[in-house]
Amino acid sequence: MQKADKIWLDGKLVNWDEARVHVLTHALHYGVGVFEGIRAYKTDGGRTAVFRLREHLQRLYDSAHIVLMEIPFPIERLHEATLELIRVNRQAECYIRPIAFFGYGSMGVGALNPVQVCIATWPWGAYLSEEGLKKGIRAKISSFTRMHVNVQMVRAKVSGQYVNSFLANREAAMSGYDEAILLDTEGYVAEGSGENIYTVKDGVLYTPPLSSPVLAGITRDSVLRIARDLGVTVVEQKFTRDTMYIADELFMTGTAAEVTPVREVDNRRIGAGVPGPVTKKIQDTYFRAVHGEEPRYREWLTVL
Ligand code: PMP
Repeated sequence: MQKADKIWLDGKLVNWDEARVHVLTHALHYGVGVFEGIRAYKTDGGRTAVFRLREHLQRLYDSAHIVLMEIPFPIERLHEATLELIRVNRQAECYIRPIAFFGYGSMGVGALNPVQVCIATWPWGAYLSEEGLKKGIRAKISSFTRMHVNVQMVRAKVSGQYVNSFLANREAAMSGYDEAILLDTEGYVAEGSGENIYTVKDGVLYTPPLSSPVLAGITRDSVLRIARDLGVTVVEQKFTRDTMYIADELFMTGTAAEVTPVREVDNRRIGAGVPGPVTKKIQDTYFRAVHGEEPRYREWLTVL
């Protein structure tokens, strides 16, 4: 990864190479950290804007609440710190990673150690490749199942829960695919290892409801609003894997993955095997929105 100058750690800006924690940090052993992935984009006026910063920070605090963690800073402080860090690192565009975690103190799974908070920023291009954004990716149903709602906390973005995503993503990559699609414990489609998922059939957009074990993606929220504004009917409903095989279009969304078309699932071509018109229109509007080119979505931007 490309280093930046500074990292914000526990209230201070420290040099990138000096942002360290103890090896007996609780979260490293038991995975109780909560985190976010946010992006800042250059807008048409040349200024940098963070996309939906408030919503991401709110989800961070909600995740912390779910895992009984008290973040030792008010939300406004992390808001300010994020903007300050981007300025200090002089980044016109970057990925932003806030994380709060139980730090060093005692050991044992239930220890409530002091909470540490970190924000890092770095340049990060297309998560599923530039070519993937343009032509679509190849995905495979994972042999790993997405967590059950009473096994993990699906409304929270918790570090330890990403072992499931890691296994699914590695399995897909090692089998020659770009990304994994996970089914829920009932066998319905849930989401990608780090993305929400959508099909388009006869012009209608379908995505699993938030009662499925899926992260309440902020890109998902943005894309559903964009789709409705474009006059596309949106249906939040569970669907089966073979529904994807016969869909006209398929795509995935996430802060990192943005809006990535899927051209193939389990070696079956989706639609014409190229990004379809609804996907392209939504992707185009999303990119215009993050770059400040859509006045009606300006409220989503925090301009530096
Ligand atoms: N699902 C999972 C499992 C994820 O990790 C992510 C990325 N945070 C998403 C969906 C998409 O969420 P968002 O659009 O808020 O980035």
